Order: sequence, then structure tokens, then C-alpha cells
Amino acid sequence: MNLSSNELRRLLTTSDPTVLDELGAEARRLRDEIYGRRVFIRGLIEISNHCRNNCLYCGIRRDAACRRYRLAPEQIMDCCRTGHALGFRTFVLQGGEDAWFTDEKLCALVGDIKREFPDSAVTLSLGERGRESFARLREAGADRYLLRHETADRDHYALLHPAAMSFDHRMQCLADLRDLGFQVGAGFMVGSPGQTVDTLLKDLAFIADFRPEMVGIGPFIPADGTPFEHEPAGSVEITLRLLAIIRILHPRVLLPATTALGTLHPTGRERAVEAGANVVMPNLSPQDTRALYAIYNNKLSTGSEAAESLTDLRLRMQAIGYEMPVARGDFQIE
Ligand code: SAH
Repeated sequence: MNLSSNELRRLLTTSDPTVLDELGAEARRLRDEIYGRRVFIRGLIEISNHCRNNCLYCGIRRDAACRRYRLAPEQIMDCCRTGHALGFRTFVLQGGEDAWFTDEKLCALVGDIKREFPDSAVTLSLGERGRESFARLREAGADRYLLRHETADRDHYALLHPAAMSFDHRMQCLADLRDLGFQVGAGFMVGSPGQTVDTLLKDLAFIADFRPEMVGIGPFIPADGTPFEHEPAGSVEITLRLLAIIRILHPRVLLPATTALGTLHPTGRERAVEAGANVVMPNLSPQDTRALYAIYNNKLSTGSEAAESLTDLRLRMQAIGYEMPVARGDFQIE
């Protein structure tokens, strides 16, 4: 398939509804060839909504007036126990940049999870840290790290983040994580304020060049109490086209059907899988904290988005022809 930048520009801007069918067919073919008709599951544990950063789009930014919580390590272990019994073999620990979680505490926690569940992968998604910190976490046994680059355009980055945050540092983190042997996840929001076709083309070029093992994309959704609270949400259709394009540009990528997509569209997850996605990340956080990790409005954490409803989700995937194996679901090296 020709994916020159002119063609990508056309695919992203045309109102022709058949482009998604064509992109999806090619994306499915490539994914099925490498991974089969399988969707990998990750148990998402939202460990804290305390954050020292002040990203303009995020509902748990420092200045947000939200109620704050953090899980104790023993609560996180309990989430993993529940998840392992349900069939999860990857645990994703995500949170704001919370200084309470020092390297010592996180390394002890990662070590405990890996000892109790040696057959499972641990993914961290805790924002930017120093190279030394990443190195210690890797030594403690963490397998993967998700850190969306958010945008590959420096000026756009500056529009989405406060001056104290730097595009170069975020990119440096991704390079360090790669260098330290993590499976690395990058990604971006679709339709974030200030995004243009040109910034998207830079995101795609970055992905084609860096080739992250994982790419998380989902529509931007406004969050109350943030500077972008009145901005429009991103487009489901464009998100689906981008999922397919990313699969075609980087066929081996692990590509989640994100919660944001499920939040904007009732069958968003299924449509994402049909556009080439092959990962879902149901919520494994304690029930009473789920609503507090409100990075955007109306974020789903119930129904098929909840880890307890895995059977439900499995049936939905089977209905469109996909298995959900009990497996770590690692990046498939050539
Ligand atoms: N502190 C971690 C985790 C952030 S939450 C980090 O910095 O990596 C995970 C992702 O949610 C973010 O990377 C961002 O791309 C996405 N996100 C945040 N606010 C959002 C919003 N309003 N709409 C859609 N996605 C959002």
C-alpha cells in the first residue's frame, strides 16, 4: 500500500467513508499474519492520581480540584491476585507523577509482583523519570514502559504542556527506555487542541522511525476543570483510520483499542480491533478508586471496560472472530 505523505494526507482528510474499509482490510491482513486473530489483555491498575505535572489536557493535572488517592503496595498486589485469577498475564501500573512512589518503593513492588507471578509481564506507565530510575526499575524486573510522546511536533508539545515540561526530555526518556531494554510504548491523542494534519504526519514519521513495541492512541476527550475543558473531542473515525495506518506502517506493533475510544463509541473497541488493534486493557483498579482516575470526562470503567467482566469482553471479541488468550502477549520479534 502506498503511504507517501501525500497519500497519508489524503487518507486523513478525505470524507470518503470507504477509506477505512480499505485501510482496515490491509491492517487486519498484516496483524493476522503476525499475531493471528488474537487480542491480548492487560490488567490496568491505576495506582495514584497525585501528579506533579500540569498537562493542559489532563483531568488529574496538578491544578485540578479532583479528590486525590493512591493505592498502597498491598492493595496493588491484591489487584494483581484478582487479575491473575481472571487470566491476566500482564499488569500495567499507571499513574500520575507521584513522588510518594520512590524508586525504592516501586522496585520493591515490581519485585514482589514478579516473584508472585513469574509468568506475568509488568508494564509501568508512570510518566517521566531519570535514566537511573528507569535502570533500577528495569533491574527490578519491569518488562515494559508506556510513555506516550503526546506529539512529535515541538511547538504543538509546548501548546499542550506547561513551560516546565520539555519535549526533549520526553523524547530522551523514550530513548533511554529503549536503550535499557524495555519494550517501549509511545503514542498520542487524536484531535488534541492544536493538532493538524502536519503534526499527525510527524507522529506517524516518528512511529515509523522509532518503531515502538507499543503505540497507544485514542481520541482527546475534554476534562472538566482543565484549560481545555471546552475544546471538542477528537474524531472516532480519524482515530480508527490512524490505528489502521499505524498497523500498516509498523506491522508488528502491539496496538491497544483504548478506553477513550470505548468511551466515545459503544462499539469503539470492536471497531478498533477491526482497524488493526490487538490489545485491550480492562480496568483492574479497586472498584472504589476507578472513578477518581478521571483523566477525562465520563471515562468508562464499568461493563466490558471492567476486568471482572472479562467474560463479557471475550464474548464480544468472539462475536467478531477473535480469541483472547491467557498469555503475556509480548512483541513478536522478526
Ligand atoms: N502520567 C503518565 C500517565 C498519563 S495518563 C504519563 O505521563 O505517561 C495516560 C495517557 O492518557 C496520557 O499519556 C494521555 O495521552 C492520555 N490522556 C490524558 N488526558 C487525556 C484526555 N483529556 N483525553 C484523552 N486522553 C488523555
